[in-house]
Amino acid sequence: MTEDIRDVAIIGGGPCGLTAGLYLCRARIDAVLLEEQLTGGQAIYSPLIENYPGFPDGISGVELVELMKKQTERFGLEVKAFSPVNGLMLDGDLKVLALDGGELKARAVIVASGRSPRKLGIPGEEKYTGRGISYCATCDAPLFKERVVMVIGGGDAAVEEALHLARFASKVILVHRRDELRASAHHQERAMSEPKLEFIWNSEVLEIKGDQTVSSAVVRDNVTGESSEVPVSGIFFYVGNEPNTGFLPDVVELNGAGYVVTNDRLESNIAGVFAAGDARANYFKQVILAAAEGALAALSAQRYLETIGARKAYEGGH
Ligand code: NAP
Repeated sequence: MTEDIRDVAIIGGGPCGLTAGLYLCRARIDAVLLEEQLTGGQAIYSPLIENYPGFPDGISGVELVELMKKQTERFGLEVKAFSPVNGLMLDGDLKVLALDGGELKARAVIVASGRSPRKLGIPGEEKYTGRGISYCATCDAPLFKERVVMVIGGGDAAVEEALHLARFASKVILVHRRDELRASAHHQERAMSEPKLEFIWNSEVLEIKGDQTVSSAVVRDNVTGESSEVPVSGIFFYVGNEPNTGFLPDVVELNGAGYVVTNDRLESNIAGVFAAGDARANYFKQVILAAAEGALAALSAQRYLETIGARKAYEGGH
Protein backbone atom coordinates (compact mmCIF):
# COMPACT_ATOMS: atom_id res chain seq x y z
CA MET A 1 0.00 0.00 0.00
CA THR A 2 1.34 3.41 -0.92
CA GLU A 3 0.39 6.54 1.02
CA ASP A 4 0.28 10.06 -0.24
CA ILE A 5 -0.98 13.18 1.64
CA ARG A 6 -2.01 16.17 -0.45
CA ASP A 7 -3.70 19.50 0.25
CA VAL A 8 -6.46 19.06 -2.32
CA ALA A 9 -7.57 16.06 -4.36
CA ILE A 10 -9.66 16.95 -7.39
CA ILE A 11 -11.82 14.08 -8.58
CA GLY A 12 -12.53 14.41 -12.30
CA GLY A 13 -10.57 15.81 -15.21
CA GLY A 14 -13.12 17.66 -17.33
CA PRO A 15 -13.21 21.46 -17.75
CA CYS A 16 -14.36 21.78 -14.13
CA GLY A 17 -11.56 19.74 -12.57
CA LEU A 18 -8.92 21.23 -14.86
CA THR A 19 -9.98 24.76 -13.99
CA ALA A 20 -9.95 23.92 -10.27
CA GLY A 21 -6.44 22.55 -10.76
CA LEU A 22 -5.33 25.66 -12.61
CA TYR A 23 -6.52 27.92 -9.79
CA LEU A 24 -4.99 25.79 -7.05
CA CYS A 25 -1.61 25.39 -8.72
CA ARG A 26 -1.45 29.06 -9.55
CA ALA A 27 -2.02 29.71 -5.83
CA ARG A 28 0.88 27.28 -5.10
CA ILE A 29 -1.44 24.79 -3.43
CA ASP A 30 -0.43 21.16 -3.53
CA ALA A 31 -3.18 19.64 -5.67
CA VAL A 32 -3.57 16.39 -7.53
CA LEU A 33 -6.20 15.60 -10.12
CA LEU A 34 -7.52 12.06 -10.41
CA GLU A 35 -9.27 11.07 -13.59
CA GLU A 36 -10.92 7.71 -14.19
CA GLN A 37 -10.10 7.74 -17.90
CA LEU A 38 -8.28 10.33 -19.98
CA THR A 39 -8.81 13.99 -19.11
CA GLY A 40 -11.46 15.91 -21.01
CA GLY A 41 -14.80 14.79 -19.63
CA GLN A 42 -18.02 15.04 -21.60
CA ALA A 43 -16.84 18.20 -23.38
CA ILE A 44 -14.64 16.18 -25.72
CA TYR A 45 -17.77 14.69 -27.28
CA SER A 46 -18.95 18.08 -28.47
CA PRO A 47 -17.94 18.65 -32.11
CA LEU A 48 -18.40 22.41 -31.90
CA ILE A 49 -18.77 24.59 -28.82
CA GLU A 50 -20.12 27.95 -29.88
CA ASN A 51 -20.92 29.44 -26.49
CA TYR A 52 -17.53 29.43 -24.75
CA PRO A 53 -16.30 33.03 -24.77
CA GLY A 54 -13.04 33.81 -26.51
CA PHE A 55 -13.62 31.64 -29.58
CA PRO A 56 -15.70 33.68 -32.04
CA ASP A 57 -15.78 30.86 -34.62
CA GLY A 58 -16.48 28.17 -32.03
CA ILE A 59 -14.06 25.46 -30.98
CA SER A 60 -14.31 21.68 -30.74
CA GLY A 61 -14.50 20.17 -27.27
CA VAL A 62 -11.26 18.27 -27.86
CA GLU A 63 -9.37 21.44 -28.80
CA LEU A 64 -10.79 23.43 -25.91
CA VAL A 65 -9.81 20.78 -23.38
CA GLU A 66 -6.33 20.49 -24.93
CA LEU A 67 -5.85 24.22 -24.38
CA MET A 68 -7.05 23.90 -20.79
CA LYS A 69 -4.64 21.03 -20.18
CA LYS A 70 -1.76 23.01 -21.64
CA GLN A 71 -2.60 25.89 -19.32
CA THR A 72 -2.68 23.66 -16.21
CA GLU A 73 0.60 22.01 -17.25
CA ARG A 74 2.21 25.43 -17.31
CA PHE A 75 1.45 25.76 -13.59
CA GLY A 76 2.45 22.19 -12.82
CA LEU A 77 -0.82 20.47 -11.98
CA GLU A 78 -0.23 16.78 -11.30
CA VAL A 79 -2.76 14.77 -13.28
CA LYS A 80 -3.25 11.06 -12.70
CA ALA A 81 -5.18 9.62 -15.63
CA PHE A 82 -6.79 6.18 -15.43
CA SER A 83 -7.02 6.58 -11.65
CA PRO A 84 -10.59 5.81 -10.65
CA VAL A 85 -11.64 6.78 -7.13
CA ASN A 86 -13.40 3.71 -5.79
CA GLY A 87 -14.45 5.15 -2.46
CA LEU A 88 -14.03 8.10 -0.13
CA MET A 89 -13.70 7.88 3.66
CA LEU A 90 -14.57 11.01 5.57
CA ASP A 91 -14.27 9.93 9.21
CA GLY A 92 -11.03 11.67 10.20
CA ASP A 93 -9.43 15.08 9.57
CA LEU A 94 -7.92 13.76 6.38
CA LYS A 95 -10.14 12.59 3.53
CA VAL A 96 -9.07 9.14 2.37
CA LEU A 97 -9.52 8.24 -1.29
CA ALA A 98 -9.49 4.54 -2.19
CA LEU A 99 -7.60 4.09 -5.46
CA ASP A 100 -6.76 0.94 -7.39
CA GLY A 101 -3.15 0.95 -6.20
CA GLY A 102 -3.70 2.06 -2.60
CA GLU A 103 -4.91 5.16 -0.75
CA LEU A 104 -4.44 8.86 -1.17
CA LYS A 105 -5.08 11.26 1.71
CA ALA A 106 -6.06 14.89 1.24
CA ARG A 107 -7.05 17.78 3.46
CA ALA A 108 -9.79 18.80 1.04
CA VAL A 109 -11.59 17.20 -1.88
CA ILE A 110 -13.26 18.75 -4.90
CA VAL A 111 -15.81 16.46 -6.51
CA ALA A 112 -15.74 17.34 -10.21
CA SER A 113 -16.66 13.90 -11.45
CA GLY A 114 -19.34 15.04 -13.89
CA ARG A 115 -21.96 12.83 -15.48
CA SER A 116 -22.19 9.92 -17.89
CA PRO A 117 -24.68 9.29 -20.68
CA ARG A 118 -27.90 7.62 -19.51
CA LYS A 119 -28.74 4.23 -20.96
CA LEU A 120 -32.28 3.23 -21.83
CA GLY A 121 -31.88 -0.42 -20.84
CA ILE A 122 -33.85 -1.65 -23.86
CA PRO A 123 -33.32 -5.02 -25.56
CA GLY A 124 -30.37 -4.91 -27.95
CA GLU A 125 -28.76 -1.84 -26.35
CA GLU A 126 -25.98 -3.70 -24.58
CA LYS A 127 -25.51 -6.27 -27.34
CA TYR A 128 -25.02 -3.69 -30.09
CA THR A 129 -23.04 -1.07 -28.17
CA GLY A 130 -19.93 -0.57 -30.28
CA ARG A 131 -21.61 -2.51 -33.11
CA GLY A 132 -23.87 0.25 -34.38
CA ILE A 133 -24.93 1.81 -31.08
CA SER A 134 -22.90 4.75 -29.89
CA TYR A 135 -23.09 7.46 -27.25
CA CYS A 136 -20.61 9.66 -29.13
CA ALA A 137 -21.41 11.01 -32.59
CA THR A 138 -18.22 13.07 -32.55
CA CYS A 139 -16.20 9.86 -32.28
CA ASP A 140 -18.19 7.59 -34.55
CA ALA A 141 -19.96 9.73 -37.18
CA PRO A 142 -17.37 9.02 -39.93
CA LEU A 143 -18.19 5.29 -39.64
CA PHE A 144 -21.68 6.00 -40.97
CA LYS A 145 -20.82 7.78 -44.21
CA GLU A 146 -23.79 7.63 -46.61
CA ARG A 147 -25.72 5.43 -44.16
CA VAL A 148 -29.04 6.03 -42.40
CA VAL A 149 -28.65 6.69 -38.69
CA MET A 150 -30.99 7.38 -35.79
CA VAL A 151 -30.61 9.74 -32.85
CA ILE A 152 -32.72 9.23 -29.72
CA GLY A 153 -33.52 12.29 -27.59
CA GLY A 154 -34.68 15.85 -28.01
CA GLY A 155 -32.23 17.94 -25.94
CA ASP A 156 -29.29 20.10 -26.98
CA ALA A 157 -26.96 17.12 -27.13
CA ALA A 158 -29.28 15.10 -29.41
CA VAL A 159 -29.72 18.00 -31.83
CA GLU A 160 -26.09 19.06 -31.81
CA GLU A 161 -24.93 15.52 -32.52
CA ALA A 162 -27.66 14.92 -35.12
CA LEU A 163 -26.40 17.99 -36.99
CA HIS A 164 -22.86 16.65 -36.80
CA LEU A 165 -23.99 13.25 -38.09
CA ALA A 166 -25.77 14.93 -41.01
CA ARG A 167 -22.33 15.90 -42.36
CA PHE A 168 -21.59 12.20 -42.92
CA ALA A 169 -24.81 10.15 -43.03
CA SER A 170 -27.26 10.06 -45.95
CA LYS A 171 -30.15 10.58 -43.51
CA VAL A 172 -30.50 11.23 -39.78
CA ILE A 173 -33.76 10.23 -38.10
CA LEU A 174 -34.33 11.89 -34.74
CA VAL A 175 -36.78 10.06 -32.48
CA HIS A 176 -38.24 12.11 -29.65
CA ARG A 177 -40.83 11.04 -27.11
CA ARG A 178 -42.73 14.34 -27.29
CA ASP A 179 -43.91 16.63 -30.10
CA GLU A 180 -41.44 19.43 -29.39
CA LEU A 181 -37.72 19.54 -28.78
CA ARG A 182 -36.21 20.38 -25.41
CA ALA A 183 -33.16 21.86 -27.17
CA SER A 184 -32.49 25.63 -27.20
CA ALA A 185 -34.12 27.84 -29.85
CA HIS A 186 -30.79 28.20 -31.66
CA HIS A 187 -30.40 24.43 -31.97
CA GLN A 188 -34.04 24.00 -32.94
CA GLU A 189 -33.69 26.50 -35.78
CA ARG A 190 -30.59 24.75 -37.09
CA ALA A 191 -32.29 21.35 -36.83
CA MET A 192 -35.35 22.47 -38.74
CA SER A 193 -33.26 23.83 -41.59
CA GLU A 194 -31.09 20.69 -42.00
CA PRO A 195 -32.51 18.81 -45.01
CA LYS A 196 -30.96 15.47 -44.03
CA LEU A 197 -32.70 15.51 -40.65
CA GLU A 198 -36.09 13.80 -40.29
CA PHE A 199 -38.17 13.62 -37.13
CA ILE A 200 -40.27 10.88 -35.63
CA TRP A 201 -42.28 12.70 -32.96
CA ASN A 202 -44.14 11.32 -29.93
CA SER A 203 -42.24 8.08 -30.20
CA GLU A 204 -39.91 5.83 -28.25
CA VAL A 205 -37.46 3.14 -29.27
CA LEU A 206 -38.44 -0.17 -27.68
CA GLU A 207 -35.85 -2.53 -29.11
CA ILE A 208 -32.79 -2.62 -31.33
CA LYS A 209 -32.39 -5.44 -33.78
CA GLY A 210 -29.58 -6.68 -35.99
CA ASP A 211 -27.26 -9.49 -36.84
CA GLN A 212 -23.55 -8.74 -36.36
CA THR A 213 -24.37 -5.02 -36.32
CA VAL A 214 -27.52 -2.91 -35.94
CA SER A 215 -30.05 -3.19 -38.75
CA SER A 216 -33.25 -1.66 -37.34
CA ALA A 217 -35.05 -0.08 -34.40
CA VAL A 218 -38.52 -0.92 -33.19
CA VAL A 219 -40.26 2.41 -32.64
CA ARG A 220 -43.58 2.86 -30.85
CA ASP A 221 -45.84 5.81 -31.61
CA ASN A 222 -47.00 7.00 -28.18
CA VAL A 223 -50.18 8.54 -29.63
CA THR A 224 -51.49 5.60 -31.66
CA GLY A 225 -49.72 2.89 -29.65
CA GLU A 226 -48.56 1.28 -32.90
CA SER A 227 -45.03 -0.05 -33.38
CA SER A 228 -42.99 -0.16 -36.56
CA GLU A 229 -39.50 -1.33 -37.50
CA VAL A 230 -37.26 1.41 -38.90
CA PRO A 231 -34.18 0.25 -40.86
CA VAL A 232 -31.00 2.02 -39.67
CA SER A 233 -27.27 1.24 -39.55
CA GLY A 234 -26.42 3.26 -36.48
CA ILE A 235 -28.20 4.54 -33.36
CA PHE A 236 -26.95 7.35 -31.15
CA PHE A 237 -28.36 7.71 -27.64
CA TYR A 238 -28.77 11.22 -26.20
CA VAL A 239 -31.38 10.75 -23.49
CA GLY A 240 -29.71 12.70 -20.73
CA ASN A 241 -27.13 11.79 -18.16
CA GLU A 242 -26.53 10.28 -14.70
CA PRO A 243 -24.19 11.84 -12.11
CA ASN A 244 -20.88 10.08 -11.39
CA THR A 245 -21.29 10.18 -7.63
CA GLY A 246 -21.55 6.48 -6.79
CA PHE A 247 -18.18 6.51 -5.02
CA LEU A 248 -19.35 9.03 -2.40
CA PRO A 249 -20.27 7.72 1.05
CA ASP A 250 -23.84 8.11 2.38
CA VAL A 251 -22.85 10.99 4.67
CA VAL A 252 -22.49 13.33 1.66
CA GLU A 253 -25.85 14.91 0.92
CA LEU A 254 -27.16 14.25 -2.59
CA ASN A 255 -30.41 15.39 -4.17
CA GLY A 256 -33.04 12.92 -5.36
CA ALA A 257 -31.28 12.48 -8.70
CA GLY A 258 -27.89 11.75 -7.10
CA TYR A 259 -26.20 15.15 -7.58
CA VAL A 260 -24.18 16.68 -4.71
CA VAL A 261 -25.99 19.41 -2.81
CA THR A 262 -23.84 22.47 -1.95
CA ASN A 263 -24.20 26.04 -0.78
CA ASP A 264 -23.23 28.98 -2.97
CA ARG A 265 -19.55 28.52 -2.10
CA LEU A 266 -19.85 24.97 -3.41
CA GLU A 267 -19.31 23.49 0.06
CA SER A 268 -21.10 20.17 0.58
CA ASN A 269 -22.54 19.25 3.98
CA ILE A 270 -19.13 17.77 4.92
CA ALA A 271 -16.38 20.25 5.86
CA GLY A 272 -13.58 20.16 3.31
CA VAL A 273 -15.63 18.42 0.62
CA PHE A 274 -16.63 20.65 -2.30
CA ALA A 275 -18.57 19.83 -5.44
CA ALA A 276 -18.60 21.64 -8.76
CA GLY A 277 -19.74 21.31 -12.36
CA ASP A 278 -21.99 18.60 -13.72
CA ALA A 279 -21.86 16.38 -10.61
CA ARG A 280 -23.30 19.20 -8.50
CA ALA A 281 -27.00 19.83 -8.01
CA ASN A 282 -27.22 22.85 -10.29
CA TYR A 283 -29.85 23.64 -12.88
CA PHE A 284 -27.80 24.40 -15.98
CA LYS A 285 -25.09 22.17 -17.43
CA GLN A 286 -22.68 24.06 -19.68
CA VAL A 287 -18.92 23.88 -20.23
CA ILE A 288 -18.51 27.52 -19.26
CA LEU A 289 -20.42 26.96 -16.02
CA ALA A 290 -18.43 23.83 -15.19
CA ALA A 291 -15.18 25.76 -15.66
CA ALA A 292 -16.47 28.67 -13.57
CA GLU A 293 -17.56 26.34 -10.79
CA GLY A 294 -14.14 24.68 -10.85
CA ALA A 295 -12.61 28.09 -10.16
CA LEU A 296 -15.07 28.82 -7.38
CA ALA A 297 -14.54 25.42 -5.72
CA ALA A 298 -10.78 25.98 -5.83
CA LEU A 299 -11.12 29.38 -4.15
CA SER A 300 -13.39 27.88 -1.49
CA ALA A 301 -10.97 25.00 -0.92
CA GLN A 302 -8.16 27.51 -0.54
CA ARG A 303 -10.19 29.38 2.05
CA TYR A 304 -10.91 26.10 3.86
CA LEU A 305 -7.19 25.25 4.01
CA GLU A 306 -6.59 28.65 5.61
CA THR A 307 -9.31 28.10 8.23
CA ILE A 308 -7.88 24.73 9.28
CA GLY A 309 -4.43 26.31 9.44
CA ALA A 310 -2.97 24.38 6.56
CA ARG A 311 -2.28 27.56 4.56
CA LYS A 312 -1.52 31.18 5.30
CA ALA A 313 -4.37 33.58 4.59
CA TYR A 314 -5.31 34.25 1.00
CA GLU A 315 -3.54 37.40 -0.09
CA GLY A 316 -5.77 38.24 -3.00
CA GLY A 317 -4.83 38.16 -6.65
CA HIS A 318 -6.61 37.63 -9.91
P1 NAP B 1 -31.39 16.77 -21.59
O1 NAP B 1 -31.46 18.23 -21.83
O2 NAP B 1 -31.74 16.25 -20.24
O3 NAP B 1 -32.29 16.06 -22.69
C1 NAP B 1 -32.51 14.69 -22.66
C2 NAP B 1 -33.48 14.34 -23.75
O4 NAP B 1 -33.70 12.93 -23.71
C3 NAP B 1 -34.84 15.02 -23.55
O5 NAP B 1 -35.34 15.45 -24.79
C4 NAP B 1 -35.68 13.90 -22.95
O6 NAP B 1 -37.04 13.99 -23.31
C5 NAP B 1 -35.08 12.68 -23.57
N1 NAP B 1 -35.23 11.51 -22.70
C6 NAP B 1 -34.90 11.40 -21.39
N2 NAP B 1 -35.19 10.17 -20.94
C7 NAP B 1 -35.73 9.50 -21.97
C8 NAP B 1 -36.25 8.20 -22.12
N3 NAP B 1 -36.27 7.32 -21.10
N4 NAP B 1 -36.74 7.82 -23.32
C9 NAP B 1 -36.73 8.70 -24.36
N5 NAP B 1 -36.26 9.96 -24.28
C10 NAP B 1 -35.76 10.36 -23.09
O7 NAP B 1 -29.93 16.16 -21.89
P2 NAP B 1 -28.78 16.64 -22.91
O8 NAP B 1 -29.33 16.94 -24.24
O9 NAP B 1 -27.72 15.61 -22.78
O10 NAP B 1 -28.27 17.99 -22.29
C11 NAP B 1 -27.83 18.00 -20.93
C12 NAP B 1 -27.48 19.42 -20.53
O11 NAP B 1 -26.33 19.84 -21.27
C13 NAP B 1 -28.58 20.43 -20.82
O12 NAP B 1 -28.57 21.38 -19.79
C14 NAP B 1 -28.16 21.04 -22.12
O13 NAP B 1 -28.64 22.35 -22.32
C15 NAP B 1 -26.65 21.02 -21.98
N6 NAP B 1 -26.02 21.00 -23.31
C16 NAP B 1 -25.75 22.20 -23.87
C17 NAP B 1 -25.19 22.28 -25.11
C18 NAP B 1 -24.91 23.64 -25.69
O14 NAP B 1 -25.34 24.62 -25.12
N7 NAP B 1 -24.19 23.76 -26.80
C19 NAP B 1 -24.90 21.10 -25.84
C20 NAP B 1 -25.20 19.87 -25.24
C21 NAP B 1 -25.78 19.83 -23.98
P3 NAP B 1 -37.99 15.15 -22.71
O15 NAP B 1 -37.61 16.40 -23.44
O16 NAP B 1 -39.34 14.65 -23.01
O17 NAP B 1 -37.70 15.19 -21.24
